[in-house]
This record gives sequence, structure tokens and C-alpha cells, in this order.
Amino acid sequence: MSERILTFEQALEEVLAHARSIADVRRVETVTLLEGAGRVLGAAIIADRDQPPFDRATRDGFAIRAGDVGEPLRVVGSLRAGERWLGRALAKGEAIEIMTGAPLPAGADAVVMVEHTTVADELLRVEAGRSLRVGENVVPRGAETRAGDVVLPVGRVLSAAEIGVAASCGMAAVQVFARPTVAIVATGDELVELDEPMSEVQIRNSNSYALAALVKAAGGVGERLAIARDTLGELRAQVAEGRAADLLLVTGGVSMGKYDLVEQVLREFRAEFFFTGALIQPGKPVVFGRLPKENGWTYFFGLPGNPVSAQVCFHLFVAPMLRTLAGRTEIEPMFAEARLSEDVKGGAKVTRFLPAEVAGGWDGVKVSVVGWQGSGDVVANARGNGYVVLPAGVEHFPAGLTVRVLLR
Ligand code: AMP
Ligand code: MG
Repeated sequence: MSERILTFEQALEEVLAHARSIADVRRVETVTLLEGAGRVLGAAIIADRDQPPFDRATRDGFAIRAGDVGEPLRVVGSLRAGERWLGRALAKGEAIEIMTGAPLPAGADAVVMVEHTTVADELLRVEAGRSLRVGENVVPRGAETRAGDVVLPVGRVLSAAEIGVAASCGMAAVQVFARPTVAIVATGDELVELDEPMSEVQIRNSNSYALAALVKAAGGVGERLAIARDTLGELRAQVAEGRAADLLLVTGGVSMGKYDLVEQVLREFRAEFFFTGALIQPGKPVVFGRLPKENGWTYFFGLPGNPVSAQVCFHLFVAPMLRTLAGRTEIEPMFAEARLSEDVKGGAKVTRFLPAEVAGGWDGVKVSVVGWQGSGDVVANARGNGYVVLPAGVEHFPAGLTVRVLLR
């Protein structure tokens, strides 16, 4: 059997290269704007008018001619947001009271803030020594966007900021990409489902649930298939079923044990393997490839059975592929920098991703490792909120060192 073991960087690059090469075959559906929250935009949002649509006052104050600041001014009217000035154009020596959001009246070229003025003897005066630029406290028409501009491109996730933009363009409904389906197959003779009785040597199938939740968060729809025992027959049946999905995840059975038959079965389905392992810990046995089917391919990942390994591999490799299938343009794993809170022993020959607690604050982002019993320790994994990245070959990581963290 030909193995292909890559470094972490190579493995990630391999996944990203395939993700980028996937043809744009995603189906688009129409949903109401709020149903679109969290979904991926399938058609660009175009500004339907200039923004702002008129020269807009950004302060409560007085619309005047900037050159008039030194002179007493006659207040000839008042204008609120939503109103339009119907009088004649403002002349020299005049001011019009104006509220934030109102359109600048013709003849005025700036707004002086009300806090900088006094009214006495029916005359408005700007505080002595204050200057006013032409255009001050005014956002000119079209300065933010022009009618016809793309304000949100295809592939953007609709979070609150994007929902606000779409609403400002009058989009009561939006087009989003259909969510990709992800078949999840757990393998192992020892596994039982949550509602099944079990003996003390059996293990609950937690992977399928954790992975289904990760799939959902990355914009897909997870389909938990039945557990496959470590037999060729059951593995074949589940892979055959899972191949129909947009992406196939198989957990367990990819290490070097006597009953690790997943790779063999995938080969029977004429799988093409891009890597059969990565120099990472946890997650070393991770497998990436694709299966041919009638109208193309189904990409798959063989994830280690150990729950923390499976989840780390999901964040590193599966999520980028899934985000692509979901139509997203930003797909890479989210790494940030943080300072180590304590000394950490190094010396590993592979890149390590240890469960860690990342905490932000005014003094910067800090990270501390969570004590764990290894890659089966789901509870320790849940105590963290990310993973600290420890590069291979470094003997010691001192407290205070800036390191990468993988956010989840
Ligand atoms: P494997 O990769 O099949 O050798 O499994 C490695 C370890 O992960 C074993 O201790 C398994 O019992 C455990 N494991 C495998 N699959 C699952 C699963 N679906 N849920 C929870 N633990 C699992
Ligand atoms: Mg197994």
C-alpha cells in the first residue's frame, strides 16, 4: 500500500489546492433576510441607490457656509431627519438649524455642532476661535457607496453586519447557497449508539455527534449514518451510502491496527488518495482523497477514531473543504497569535495542536494548555476553546512566547 505522509503545511496546502479547484456547481435558494443569517450569499447584493442618498448631516447643529463662522448668523429655519429644505437656498449670513441625518440645504456647505454655538439676541454665534472646514460634519451623497456598486460579493457569510447592509439595500429576501450534505460514518466494533445498552468495554459513538455539530457550524448538513463494524461488508455498505453526499467523513479504522480496514475499502471504491497521514499530533493517521461517482467526485476524509484527533483534523482540514462546498470564499483555518501563560515542554517531531484555553483582554491574547490524558480525552478538549500550535523540533516553549493558536 503506497503511503503519502505530509507535513502539516503540505497537507493543508493540498486540501486548499483541491478546495480552490472545485467548480462552482452550487445550487442557490431564496430565503427571507433573517433566514439568511449565517448562510452564504449566492448572489451579490448591489446598492440600489447612492449611500448616503443625499449630503447628510452627521451632527445636530446648524447648516451654514463654512466661511461665515466668524460672523453673527440669522437662523432662518429648522430641518429634521426625513425632511427636505423647501425654502430658498441659504444665503451668506444665514443658518438653518439641522438634525443628524437630515439633508444639507442648498447653499450651505458645512454643519457646525450645536455644542459649539450660542444664540443671543436672536443671533447665532460660533464659539470664538472655532474654525469650520467646507464639508465638515457632512457625508456627501454617494461617499459610502454608489448605486450599482457590489456591496456584498458572492461567497460572503451573512452575519449581522452583512444583514444590516442587505437591509439597507431593501433586500427582504436574499439568495444563498444550498447547504452541502456531509455523510458521517463512525467505524468500530466497540461503538454503540446513545440509546443502546452497552457493556463496560464498549464506547459511545460520540464522534458522529461532535462532527455533525462541527459540520453545522461550517455551513453544512451532517447526516449520521449507521455505525459500521470493522468488517469489509459493513464498511462497504456505509461508504457506498455516504458517497452520495457532497462530502464523506469516516472516523476510526485509519491507523495501523489489524482491524483498520477503511483505507482498503476506500481503495475498492477506486479512491484517489492525496495524503494518507500528516505529521501532526493528534491526528497523524488522517486521510484525504476523493471517490469517483457518476457525475464527478465525492471528497472524503478518513479521520482518526480518537475524538480529539477527529475534531482537530476537522478544524484543520475538513472545515476548509466544507466551507468551499458551502460556497464561502474565506476558507482557511482561523489562526491567531497569543502569548503563552506558562512554560510548555516541546521536543516533538511533529506539529502539535494541544487543547488550550485562549483568553483575550486589554493586555492581549493569552493561551494556556489544558491538562489532558491524550487524544481520547473529550472532557479536556471541551475545557479548552482552541488549540495551541507547537511546531516540531523545538525543545522548550517559555512563558511569554508568542505562539499560534487555532481558534474554533
Ligand atoms: P481507531 O482510530 O478506530 O483505532 O480508534 C481509536 C480510538 O478512538 C479507540 O479508543 C476508539 O474506541 C475511539 N473511537 C473510535 N471511534 C469513535 C467514535 N465514533 N466515538 C468515540 N470514540 C471513538
Ligand atoms: Mg477502530
